[in-house]
Amino acid sequence: MHPFSFTKAPSTREALEAGRRGGRYIAGGTTLVDLMRETVERPETLVDISGLPLDEVTVTERGGLRIGALVTMSEAAAHRKVRTTYPVVSQALELSASAQLRNMATLGGNIMQRTRCTYFRDVTAVCNKREPGSGCAAREGYNRTHAILGTSEDCVATHPSDAAVAFAALDARVHLLGPDGARSVPFADFLLRPGSTPNREQALSKGELITAVEIPACPRPLKSGYLKVRDRQSYEFALTSAAVALHIRGGVIREAKVAAGGVGTVPWKLPAVERALIGERPSERLWARAAESAADGARPLEHNRFKVELLKRTVERQLRIVGESK
Ligand SMILES: Cc1cc2nc3c(=O)[nH]c(=O)nc-3n(C[C@H](O)[C@H](O)[C@H](O)COP(=O)(O)OP(=O)(O)OC[C@H]3O[C@@H](n4cnc5c(N)ncnc54)[C@H](O)[C@@H]3O)c2cc1C
Repeated sequence: MHPFSFTKAPSTREALEAGRRGGRYIAGGTTLVDLMRETVERPETLVDISGLPLDEVTVTERGGLRIGALVTMSEAAAHRKVRTTYPVVSQALELSASAQLRNMATLGGNIMQRTRCTYFRDVTAVCNKREPGSGCAAREGYNRTHAILGTSEDCVATHPSDAAVAFAALDARVHLLGPDGARSVPFADFLLRPGSTPNREQALSKGELITAVEIPACPRPLKSGYLKVRDRQSYEFALTSAAVALHIRGGVIREAKVAAGGVGTVPWKLPAVERALIGERPSERLWARAAESAADGARPLEHNRFKVELLKRTVERQLRIVGESK
């Protein structure tokens, strides 16, 4: 581990000031410390933000939910409002990491976590994300767990967060506070596709702090859920996953929100699947037909061709589970 200095921010203003000077925020520390131990990350200054007042879940004026960036994954998953209005978020969180990690890890840190690509985490391998211009060892390497959607010549790493897939499906917004004030960005614009700059992963300016994630109000009733397919049943990242939310009234699907994980360089929203569902009556044939377009545009690599079919089946199964639930 490289030497670093550590300071605990006593207030948001002082955190922002330290961030502006180049300090790196640390919340639960469950992933940043690992990366520092492996020397993948070498921040000179850590700014501990865990004492800031960003740990509440509140109902917004328009009836949505605002989850503070420092709410832990366990607290968010267990929160009554989250569980009852957006089970897809609770389930995505509960299927993440382990209970011990979820007790420490925060929501802000979760959406900011970096890829689990083994070449990114191995400092002896080339990686454009870690060292721009050095190359991508995964492209020709063992790329079974890598992305099939949103990839570029320079990077094929997946985004690992499960909660981010639920947030993408629900068209959430990320609230930010920086030296120039507060702003919010749609979740879809917050995490960046790699293109030719895979080292740039979020639409964050220097020193900006995530303050909350806001889920907009959805029409009621809304049925939702998250399905995660992985090599083992716990403590493992997704090979594929599907976040689905459906508003069904009078026997017809009026609104559909669908996104996939484990397959994209960012959480992958599925607008073609959503369009195929809206205005239709739930049926076995509909789930299969809608899921058929889930992998449109996929560019599989040598070892992950199986993800194309697995993605369609994951989406189809989750549409059925949510669409036919009571
Ligand atoms: C063994 C293991 C298994 C895991 N499995 C899963 C899984 O299955 N699914 C899943 O989704 N995740 C998984 N994770 C990841 C886990 O969810 C993250 O480690 C955790 O959410 C990070 O939160 P944290 O508060 O500890 O972040 P930290 O480690 O403190 O920070 C992570 C990053 O976020 C930045 N950051 C933190 N908070 C803010 C903020 N408010 N504003 C701006 N930047 C901020 C930090 O600067 C840092 O870059 C796993 C982790 C481990 C170690």
